Amino acid sequence: MSYFDNNATTPLHPNAHEVFVKALSESWANPSSPYRLGAQLRASLEICREEISSIFGVSHDKVVFTSGATEANNSVFFALSRSSSSSDRVLLSPFEHPSVTDAAEYWFPKRVDFLRAQPDGTICISELEDYLRISTPPVLVSIMAASNESGVVQPWKEAAGICKSHGIHFHCDSTQLIGKKNVKGLSLCSSFISSAHKFGGPKGVGWLMGKCFSPFLIGGQQEKGMRGGTENFAAVSSSHAAFLAVENSCIDTSELAAIRDRFEQQMLKLFPDLKIIGCGARRLWNTSLMIMPDFENFRWVGKLDKLGFQVSTGSACSTSKFGGSPLATALNLSDIESRRLVRVSSYFSNSSADWAALLSAFDKTFMELQEESRDSAVISL
Ligand code: PMP
Repeated sequence: MSYFDNNATTPLHPNAHEVFVKALSESWANPSSPYRLGAQLRASLEICREEISSIFGVSHDKVVFTSGATEANNSVFFALSRSSSSSDRVLLSPFEHPSVTDAAEYWFPKRVDFLRAQPDGTICISELEDYLRISTPPVLVSIMAASNESGVVQPWKEAAGICKSHGIHFHCDSTQLIGKKNVKGLSLCSSFISSAHKFGGPKGVGWLMGKCFSPFLIGGQQEKGMRGGTENFAAVSSSHAAFLAVENSCIDTSELAAIRDRFEQQMLKLFPDLKIIGCGARRLWNTSLMIMPDFENFRWVGKLDKLGFQVSTGSACSTSKFGGSPLATALNLSDIESRRLVRVSSYFSNSSADWAALLSAFDKTFMELQEESRDSAVISL
C-alpha cells in the first residue's frame, strides 16, 4: 500500500463497504417513517448507538450522529455560547483544527484564549491549572486528543480530570485518536467527537458524544431533537461496522510504531538536517511530520505522487494556503520551515515493506530535485 495520507482520510474498510452498499439498496426507507420499514431502521440505528456508546462507556442517549467532526465541533461551541454570558471566555490548545478554532472565534468573538505550545508539540498541564484558578475561569476548555498534523498526543485525560474537578466543560476533538488508539477514558470528557472516515468508515458521518446540547441544526426533530435532518442510516451503520472492525482487531500498534520509528531513523541518515516534529513526545503510531532540509513541500509531494506515493504537505485542511497550518503557527516555524513540512501518515494496511519503499522514494525524489535545481536558476527554498 503506497497511500500514506491516512490522517486526511482512510480507505473504506471492507466491512463498512459491505454494510454501506447493502443499506443503500435494502435500507433506503426513512427511519422516522411510521410504518414497519421505518421502525426497523429506527431499531437498527438504536443498536448502532447502543454498541458505540457501550464501547466508550457512555449512555446511549449521549451519542448524536452528525455529518462529521466539523459539525460536531461547531455544535459544541454553538451550544456553550447559548448557555453562557457575553463575557465568558473559552480556552483552547494552540494546535486545534480550524473547525474548533474558527468555531470558537465565531461564537466567542474576542473571547478565545490559547495555551502556550511547548517545542515538542504538547501543551503544559500546569498552565491549564493556572488558567482554571483565576477568578473568572473559562466556561469551556478544548484540547484535541491527537494532532492531525504531528500525531502528538496531548495530555487530554489529565486535562479532562482537572476540568471536571473545577466543574468546567472539557471538550476533546478526538477525531484522530478514535480508530488508532485505545479510547478508554474519553468518557471523562464532557464532550468528545469522531469522524468515521478517519477509521475506515464513510465520509460525511461522525458522532458527538457526551453532554447533551442545544441543537445546532434546527428544523427537524430527529435524534431526539438534538440534530435535525433525515438520519443517514447507510452512513451511520457503515461507520458502526468500521468502528467494530477496528476495535476488534488485535493488531499490535507498538509494532507499527517501531516500523514508523525505523523509517524516521533511516530518513535522518539520508537527510541529517531533517527535523521531526514531536519526536520526543507521545505520538500516534502512524504519523511523521517532517521539516525537509531542502525544497518546497509541494515539490516533494508532487514527485512522490508521480512515483506512486501519496503523502501530504501537512493537514489536508491547510494545503490550499501557505501558513495555514495551526501547528506551524503554534510552534513559530519560519515561513521556509512551514513550506517544507511533509506529513506521512500510515494505517493498519501499511507494511514495513511499504515504509521501506517510501524511504527509497524519498531518496530518489531528493536526487531528482537536486538535479532539477542544478539545471535551474531558481533558488530552492
Ligand atoms: N478535527 C480533526 C483533528 C481532524 O483531523 C479533522 C479532519 N481533518 C476534523 C476535525 C474534521 O473532520 P470532518 O472531515 O469529519 O469534518
